[in-house]
Amino acid sequence: MQTATATTRTTCPYCGVGCGVLATREESGAIGIKGDPLHPANFGRLCSKGSALGETVDLEGRLLQPKMFGEEAGWDEALGLVASRFSDAVRQHGPDSVAFYVSGQFLTEDYYVANKLMKGFIGSANIDTNSRLCMSSSVAGHVRAFGSDTVPGTYEDLELADLVILTGSNLAWCHPVLYQRLIAAKTERPEMKIVVIDPRRTMTADIADMHLAIRPDGDVALFLGLLGFLADSANLDHDYIERHTSGFAMAVAAARQLSIDELTRKTGLDAQQLEAFYTLFVATQKTVTCYSQGVNQSSSGTDKVNAIINCHLATGRIGKPGMGPFSLTGQPNAMGGREVGGLANMLAAHMSIASDEDKDRVARFWGAPRIASKPGLKAVDLFQAVADGRIKAIWIMATNPVVSMPDADAVKAAIKACPFVVVSDVTQTDTSRHAHVFLPSLGWGEKSGTVTNSERRISRQRSFLSIPGQARADWWQLTEVGRRMGFEAAFPYNSPDEIFAEHAALSAFENDGTRDFDIGAFAQIDGQAYDALSPVQWPQPQSGSGGAERFFGNGGFYHADRKARFIAVEAGNVERPASAFPLVLNTGRIRDQWHTMTRTGKSARLAAHIAEPFAEIHPFDAKAIGVESADLVELESPYGKVIVRASVTDRQAKGNIFVPMHWNDNFAARARIDSLVAPLVDPFSGQPALKSSAIAARKF
Ligand code: SF4
Repeated sequence: MQTATATTRTTCPYCGVGCGVLATREESGAIGIKGDPLHPANFGRLCSKGSALGETVDLEGRLLQPKMFGEEAGWDEALGLVASRFSDAVRQHGPDSVAFYVSGQFLTEDYYVANKLMKGFIGSANIDTNSRLCMSSSVAGHVRAFGSDTVPGTYEDLELADLVILTGSNLAWCHPVLYQRLIAAKTERPEMKIVVIDPRRTMTADIADMHLAIRPDGDVALFLGLLGFLADSANLDHDYIERHTSGFAMAVAAARQLSIDELTRKTGLDAQQLEAFYTLFVATQKTVTCYSQGVNQSSSGTDKVNAIINCHLATGRIGKPGMGPFSLTGQPNAMGGREVGGLANMLAAHMSIASDEDKDRVARFWGAPRIASKPGLKAVDLFQAVADGRIKAIWIMATNPVVSMPDADAVKAAIKACPFVVVSDVTQTDTSRHAHVFLPSLGWGEKSGTVTNSERRISRQRSFLSIPGQARADWWQLTEVGRRMGFEAAFPYNSPDEIFAEHAALSAFENDGTRDFDIGAFAQIDGQAYDALSPVQWPQPQSGSGGAERFFGNGGFYHADRKARFIAVEAGNVERPASAFPLVLNTGRIRDQWHTMTRTGKSARLAAHIAEPFAEIHPFDAKAIGVESADLVELESPYGKVIVRASVTDRQAKGNIFVPMHWNDNFAARARIDSLVAPLVDPFSGQPALKSSAIAARKF
């Protein structure tokens, strides 16, 4: 911790932009917050959420003492109980009877220890994360196309591009500093074109040269149509396709199956709009296609990602300045979690749980007695397994699934019925209310470690506040439980730098360049160097040769033949049968709140932007149910009901309703919108379709 009035370089804990922050403890006790001018993600910029961080670090509402069955307890007895109940479950019911559900709010070091304990020592891969809800379709799409979960480009590419396509991304509200960078680039070069593809006319669309109000889930068809157009108009990079890819002919054949009538019907766009977009793409070599939750949070999310990547491979527009597909991650450390293998279907250091060779390598590196033999349960399946009694003990860390999971009421019931629930968090949440053991964690400003942003840049989160009460770091809690479960030698950590060094060493272990994730340069890092670590993009191999700023400009993919794969995706059925739930519910973020508001909900300044939950509804639909702006509406699906205030606007597409994801029982009764969301998932990634549930609306 720094002395009073010192300024600490750290990183914002909110979105995947990963802005550098200068935090200063003023003599008055207030926390001064500024953007770090030296951080390459933001160069001094901050958004409203980041600049309000100082207002969210007080101790009001914090839980600072472990609790067992509602009573305050000491750490030793609480950790002992967690270790013994998990050990008992494993002994009696096998390793797959226990689970961890963690978070993109975790620091990489927390994630590493959790993943190692579950996959290497408990012997199950039942560790999943709220990142499953955020970007797992991008992971699956990357792995299918590239053979690795690699983001090929950098933020600078958005500034260098002549055409930036934003699909399923409300960049203005969800990645505001990247949006600021884009506006600055367009102001400097007004000839730069921006296309926004979104059923809603969001704030981001205000800077668009073209807004395509696509039908929900019409993206696969839209990009299939683009691939067909590129092929038919002979606008392909044949040299790149032949040297660096396979599967092109089948992908184009799949694209050509789509007639223009089907294309217009599935996208909801007319032929002129499609031609204008496709012609602009053809004409603009330097094109970046950014995609976010509107692409990922879908039952066809992985196919959407591959449909986009196909178009970039076909034109060789990847891994070169101003060109490439670009996944924008939602959370501050969704990428770090991927790097340590924090998803149930991953291993560690971008190795594969499907590969015996990788499992053997990780087991030898860890000295692991029982490496997980198969993928674990992904989030939706995991809570289903809790519900039907297969999971006997679950440890939920830094996340609030009772609010954020689809069919949230069923998740709540499952957690309430689980024989043993441990929750690690900083405050009382809708989830922690049901914990048998509550473990108090460190919050932002108190904890210390690393995060990785959307452009593969690893940055330090540094502590600058005193540790309050009995709160402890998540990595420490996991280490102590691992030791108490009998794995003392494998969990020797005393500080996060030791964990980071081990993580770096694993990334380089037997890595001859056939794995993308390599930060071996940090395998010997000590506490002092870790403390001083500047933001750095991976890879950073042990050779010290420095990493590639971009991947794949000259091929070098990570399938065995080093070629990328075109994926022959199909435009699925986007029609909705007539039903008692005729409207499409789209959930998402607003500008000034974060997740379930456990932190941003403390700031009056942030609450002033939008003070209560609302439903954006098109005037046509509002009239049909007799609702005007500010009226209360009841929204209903087969899974639940909520009551929110109507906001009637033609920014919303007819037949669609948007409701923010943030509100929960702590802030507004009966507004947990995910209690309406169907637990439908993408078949490849397991990511829930959080943006297209069938609902009905009526005046309340
Ligand atoms: Fe934080 Fe994201 Fe805002 Fe940057 S853009 S200050 S990372 S919330």
